[in-house]
Amino acid sequence: MSANSKTLSLMASGSAMYTRKVSVSKDPDFLKVVDKLRNADVSFMNFEGQIGHPDAYPIKPYSFASYFFGEKWIAKEYAWTGFNLTSLANNHMNDWSHHAIEESIKQLDEAGIVYAGAGMNLTAAREPGYLDTPNGRVALISIDSSHEQGEFVQPPMASDPKGKFKGRPGNNTIRYDVIIDAKKETIDQLKKIRKDLNLDKFRGREKDKDKHLFFPNGGNPGLTFRESNEPGFTTISYQKDVDANIKWIKNAKEMADYVIVSHHTHANGNKKTGPYAEVPADFVKKFAHDAIDAGADICLFHGMHGKGIEIYKDKPIFYDLGWFSWMVETLPRFPYDLYDNWELDPYNSLPIDITNARPAGQFGVSPLWNQGFLFDFKMKEGKAIDIKLHPMHMGRDKPMWERGLPRIAKGKIAEEILTRQVEMSKELGTEIIIENDIGVVKL
Ligand SMILES: [Zn+2]
Repeated sequence: MSANSKTLSLMASGSAMYTRKVSVSKDPDFLKVVDKLRNADVSFMNFEGQIGHPDAYPIKPYSFASYFFGEKWIAKEYAWTGFNLTSLANNHMNDWSHHAIEESIKQLDEAGIVYAGAGMNLTAAREPGYLDTPNGRVALISIDSSHEQGEFVQPPMASDPKGKFKGRPGNNTIRYDVIIDAKKETIDQLKKIRKDLNLDKFRGREKDKDKHLFFPNGGNPGLTFRESNEPGFTTISYQKDVDANIKWIKNAKEMADYVIVSHHTHANGNKKTGPYAEVPADFVKKFAHDAIDAGADICLFHGMHGKGIEIYKDKPIFYDLGWFSWMVETLPRFPYDLYDNWELDPYNSLPIDITNARPAGQFGVSPLWNQGFLFDFKMKEGKAIDIKLHPMHMGRDKPMWERGLPRIAKGKIAEEILTRQVEMSKELGTEIIIENDIGVVKL
């Protein structure tokens, strides 16, 4: 009997940010989450952060987001929760210097959690992680494309050694361009403005100066204006980054029963919606299909709050796993930069001042940041045979130090969380029925 004829059970959840010991919890609705994770062959999360190291220093000079770190025992807390597989490629994997990448990998190894997506050089970051289970061998490839549109922070992408030069520690990244399609008259006007303002003196990407008409800072995603009869917005990935990952998918397919591709992205919007709408970005959708065509069995995206499910050639694509845990409010300390960027006096302010400076709508008490899912599914003979969604809430009505812990949602909250997924999945041709606080995908 080949391994593929066995039934492989999986639980997938999105971004995880523990800052507290969860193994002491007696909350019955959290323990239900733990029970489900411990009982699956594969329990996947996105390790959205790093494990701190005394020599680590903050990397990003302009960030408003948390410079996230966990204590050394955090990896064991994730293992206790039931996770055995994690992606590392995400925007928080470069909050701190390479010391924290090294420390994260070391602690995950000790905790027995298989990982992929970040490393001391690009090849190490791209290499799959392999998880052996009684019901099949699983390969994980983990990718990041979570740099913001127009953000002046370089994607934390790793590089490889060349000759006497070392490689750069970081992520397995897929870079992408944000394209604004405009009619010829508009492009001509933009060119005129650029000339009048002497903007063409700014050096853009050397090879492609004309492409970056208005945000020419070399290397940033910026905006690309393109002549087209159909004005609109789209995103296109760097084909060389996609090709490199496709090669690893093909390699992994030869060495495991199932290939999971994880992809952390903050890219939103398509031609119909314009930027920032929480729908799969055009390049994301294309990548998911290309990955499956190359041999991937499961695509797990994360980075936002859930964007629906698509079944493509019998393989499941979860366009956003949402959050698993969100304990950013109990980070015990923040670096100088975060005080500085929030216009707080770095020398006289305290961590609670950062929490209070943040817009409440974005963090802490905002509903979307306090919802999560467990995607509960099975694979047999290469196909998804059963997909369920368990909605979770993070206890936003509780005090700060109890928030961010995922709990199985019931009743009205469950329905609210699931309804959004039902509607988003419908757009992708997938029907989900809500039954007893659970979403069931019609296959
Ligand atoms: Zn992220």
